[in-house]
Amino acid sequence: MDYDAVVIGAGLGGLSCAAQLAHKGFKTLVCENTGQVGGCCSSYDHQGYRFDIGASVVELSWVIDELFESMGQKTSDYIDWIPIDPIYGFITADGRRFTYPVDLAGTREVIAQFSEEDARSWDRFAREGSEAINFAFGKVMTKSMGTMKDMMKVGMENPALMKYMKYFVLNFESTLCKFFKSDTVRASMSLQSYFIGLPPALCPGYVAFLAYSEHEGVLYPRGGMIAIPQGIARSFQESGGEIKFDSAVERILLDGNRVCGVELADGTQIRSRMVVSNINAKTLYLELVGEENLPAWAKRAIKSYEVSMPSPMIMLGLDSKPDLEAHHTICYSTLDNMNSIWFDEYLENRIPAFGAGLISWPTHADPSLAPHGHHCLNMVAFAPYEPVEGDWDKIKERYLESQFDVLERNFGLNIRDHVVAAKVNTPKDFEKMLRHPRGAVYGLQNDITCSAAFRPSTRSRAVKGLYLTGASTHLGGGIAPTVGSGVVAADLIFKDS
Ligand SMILES: Cc1cc2nc3c(=O)[nH]c(=O)nc-3n(C[C@H](O)[C@H](O)[C@H](O)COP(=O)(O)OP(=O)(O)OC[C@H]3O[C@@H](n4cnc5c(N)ncnc54)[C@H](O)[C@@H]3O)c2cc1C
Repeated sequence: MDYDAVVIGAGLGGLSCAAQLAHKGFKTLVCENTGQVGGCCSSYDHQGYRFDIGASVVELSWVIDELFESMGQKTSDYIDWIPIDPIYGFITADGRRFTYPVDLAGTREVIAQFSEEDARSWDRFAREGSEAINFAFGKVMTKSMGTMKDMMKVGMENPALMKYMKYFVLNFESTLCKFFKSDTVRASMSLQSYFIGLPPALCPGYVAFLAYSEHEGVLYPRGGMIAIPQGIARSFQESGGEIKFDSAVERILLDGNRVCGVELADGTQIRSRMVVSNINAKTLYLELVGEENLPAWAKRAIKSYEVSMPSPMIMLGLDSKPDLEAHHTICYSTLDNMNSIWFDEYLENRIPAFGAGLISWPTHADPSLAPHGHHCLNMVAFAPYEPVEGDWDKIKERYLESQFDVLERNFGLNIRDHVVAAKVNTPKDFEKMLRHPRGAVYGLQNDITCSAAFRPSTRSRAVKGLYLTGASTHLGGGIAPTVGSGVVAADLIFKDS
């Protein structure tokens, strides 16, 4: 054998698993399709600006701390965090602006301007959120949840999980409405459902507590989001791990139903005892393993999953400071509108008229990402893979201009006149760059019927020696869950070795 383990993809899940394997002395190779680490959590340089490709902040950063601590290391030796405060700026449709600071009492004061009753509910929401995150949902982040037995075990060990089980049954919308009455307050917390790629009506209720967890700290890494995977990759390489860039894996080599290596796009074959996948699970099973090598039940099961929604990204270099107040700005939208974007526009293959929901301003935290006095902005939107408006490659320019129009018309925000560099990454670009099928940025859809034991298992049941990490397994997309998925995969590999 050439290696103990080959990892397909240098995203956060793959790297987190690889770092732990190498640390324990497993001879490990990561094969990455692009020329750099990080996948959706990375950055690249364009006309003097450093743009983030996808993720724009880290929440629940203790999962990353746990990863480094499990190897006897400190996160601060690998990643230089910048705390984000205020967490959000908001612009309402009638031009009002307000911000939510990290401080809970400060946020309470802001909420009280809209509703005294909701300000009192905010205290209750924060209390429940703190308990739910720290004693219930947070506990599953680095624990195997791949089988019903695993889920029962984690439940028995953490009684608080039982208490908060109701938020797995309630949806995001009813959870928010249970606490808050004011439309403005509800709207200020409604966009977070799309952080796992679903509208408030379909998103599980526990995700609503993100609006609390952000108050436990939101961080940005100095040097751009790529500094996170670079830090994990450095730890991996210090333990003797190897990374092969520009090396897409095209096929998984099998000996019966057990992996014995991988084949790269140029035909090179690499032998290994184990293979860890960090790519979309549908691509993994249906293309790299091959339908013909799967048992009928596995073929049916993997085909039954929907891939997650895509998210076009607009990256802008500005010649001056933007007229914003926070690292993240939410262009106000009601819960109804957030649902209608999905049901009336996205599912009908129309580009939502609402435009970009979230504007991220990384140079607010780290000015070194742009030339002196200049700034970077990212605008994250929702849109289908095959819009009726036309092929993405043909409508990029029109799309960009329409997003500027919406910001000007609906929110009084003139960004267009200050743009000196612009780049649009459409769902097709995500597919080309990172091989995400249909531009799916969260792997598979992440509703409650497709999470934990209901998601493709971290230890493959169909193919021996194959392990899954990243957004397609465990708890789905997001920095903390995907790092957690790498920890879980490494634990299972240690148990099986
Ligand atoms: C627009 C956007 C905004 C986001 N914002 C946030 C945020 O603010 N906070 C947050 O927590 N999360 C955010 N996320 C989600 C988060 O970034 C992702 O869920 C997470 O980074 C995915 O990690 P992963 O381990 O699944 O790997 P991925 O990032 O999917 O990486 C997979 C890697 O595998 C490589 N690869 C694919 N196929 C092959 C192959 N055949 N051979 C070799 N290599 C291959 C790809 O090139 C890629 O590098 C955002 C995502 C997007 C897209």
